[in-house]
Amino acid sequence: ASARVVVIGGGFGGATAARSLARAGIATTLVEANPTYTACPFSNAVIAGLRPMEAQRFGYDALRAEGVSVVHQRATGVDATAKRVILADGTVLPFDRALVSPGIELRFDALPGYDEAASRAMPHAWQAGAQTELLAAQLAAMPDGGTVIMAVPPNPYRCPPGPYERASLIAHFLKSRKPRSKLLVLDAKDVFSKQRLFEAAWAALYPGLLEYVPLAMGGRVTEVDAKARRVTTDFGSHEGAVVNVIPPQRAGAIAQAAGLADRSGWCPVDPSSFESRLVPGVHVIGDAIIAGAMPKSAFAAHAQARVAVAAMVAMLRGAPVPAARLLNTCYSLVAPGYGISVAGVYRPANGVLADIPGAGGTSPLDAPASVREAEAHYAEDWFATITADAFA
Ligand code: FAD
Repeated sequence: ASARVVVIGGGFGGATAARSLARAGIATTLVEANPTYTACPFSNAVIAGLRPMEAQRFGYDALRAEGVSVVHQRATGVDATAKRVILADGTVLPFDRALVSPGIELRFDALPGYDEAASRAMPHAWQAGAQTELLAAQLAAMPDGGTVIMAVPPNPYRCPPGPYERASLIAHFLKSRKPRSKLLVLDAKDVFSKQRLFEAAWAALYPGLLEYVPLAMGGRVTEVDAKARRVTTDFGSHEGAVVNVIPPQRAGAIAQAAGLADRSGWCPVDPSSFESRLVPGVHVIGDAIIAGAMPKSAFAAHAQARVAVAAMVAMLRGAPVPAARLLNTCYSLVAPGYGISVAGVYRPANGVLADIPGAGGTSPLDAPASVREAEAHYAEDWFATITADAFA
C-alpha cells in the first residue's frame, strides 16, 4: 500500500503541505476545523476600512480536486505509537507520518483581566475572522476625538511586524476619518521589526496622532479591565474608546495535547526535516514551532511546508533528507501605497534555523515615494501568489 500522511491544520503551512504531498503521490488527508480559511495577512487593511473581508477568505475545493481528502473536523489527539490521529467525532485516521500546522492559541491566562469574554469587548483580532470585523466595527463607531489603545505583547508571537503595521493603518484611518483622535501604542518590548522604517514613517505621516511607548518608558500592560475599557501599566492607567489587546500566545491546542510543545508552549523540531524532537514520526511547521531566527509568518510557514514535505517524502522512501535553504519576506503597509519589507535567508545550523549572514535585509531608510509605492504593490502580488499556491 502507498504511504499515508495526515496533515492537521489547513492554514498557510498545512494547506501548502497537503497539496505538495498529494503532488508527490502520497495519500493525504487534511484535517481542518473550519470549512473556510480566513487569512491574517492584509487583515490590518480590513480593520482600517481599506479592504473587504471577503478578500481574506479561501476554501478547500482546489485541494480536493488535486486528490487531498479534506475532513472538516477538529483533531483532538495524535497517538504517535499507534500512528493515528483522533478527531472530535471519534474518527480515527491512521498514518505513516503526520504533519501538524495548527498555528497559535491565544493565552487567556497570561494577562490579568484578559480572558475570552474580555476579548469580546477588547478584541485581539490576532486570528482573522469575527475578531477582525469586531475591531473594524468599533473603530468605525467610535467618536472623533477618542483614544484608541493597542497593547503589544513580548516576543515570541505571530507576525513580528504585525502590531506596527496595524498601528500605522489605524493611524491612517484616524487621520483621514476621525482627525481629532489619538492612538496610544503600549509595547512590552523596546526593540521591534523594521523599527527605524516604522518610526521614520510615523514621524512623517502621523505626528501628534500616534504615540508609541516602549517597555523602558512604561509600555508594558500588566492588567486590563474590559468593562471600563481600561489598561494598566507600571506607570498608570489609560482608558480608550477602542482597546486592541494582543495577548501572549503559544502553539495551537493540539500541539499541547499531542505532547509536541515543550514548557515554553512552542514545539521544538529538527530544522532539516521539521520532525518533532519530542514525538518521532510527527512533523510540525509554521507559527507553532521554535524556529530559531525565522519569524512566525505565513511566508515562513509556506517555506517550511515545502522543506518538511521534501524531508517526509525522502524518509518514507528511505532516502536521505535533502539539505534546505529557506526564505522569508514580510511586507508591511504603513499607509495605502506605502510599503516596507524585511527579508531573510535561513539554514539549519547547530540544531536551529540560523540566519545566513549578509543575505536579506530591510527596505532602504531613505527611499523615494516610488520605492514605497512599488513595495505596496509587491505586497499585494505576494498575497495573491501565496494564497493561490496554498488554496486556489
Ligand atoms: P494558521 O494559518 O493559523 O493555520 C492553522 C490552521 O489550523 C487554522 O485554519 C485552524 O483552524 C487549524 N487548526 C488548528 N488546530 C486544529 C485542530 N486541532 N484540528 C483541526 N484544525 C485545526 N504573515 C506574513 O507572511 N505576511 C504578512 O503580511 C502577515 N500579516 C499578518 C497580519 C496579522 C494581523 C496577523 C495576526 C498575522 C499576519 N501574518 C503575516 C502571520 C500569518 O498569518 C501566520 O504566520 C500564518 O497564518 C501561520 O500559518 P500556520 O499554518 O502556522 O497557522
